Amino acid sequence: MSATFQVIVQPTSQNKTFRLSPTSWMNDGTCRIYPLSTFFPIDGKGVIAAKKICQNCPVALRCLNYALTENIEHGVWGGTSERERRRILKRRVTAA
Ligand code: SF4
Repeated sequence: MSATFQVIVQPTSQNKTFRLSPTSWMNDGTCRIYPLSTFFPIDGKGVIAAKKICQNCPVALRCLNYALTENIEHGVWGGTSERERRRILKRRVTAA
């Protein structure tokens, strides 16, 4: 005996709220198909690999801005390493 079900998915106000959240861009990140640990590498080789994935990411700029705004110290975000983000922030402080 078998049964067939039809599932109808309709947008809800809850979905709409999620899409408008400050981090909704993460749903479009190339990294979503990789293990999280890929973007929190333990050595330079891992950083290079993660940055390579970021190169083709459609939300890389938003990701980088988010990491800079939120002062995220660890991991590869927006195609930048921890050290590179520290340099960017330092330059911003110096320029201000
Ligand atoms: S830029 Fe890199 S870390 Fe940021 S969302 Fe894209 S793939 Fe993920």
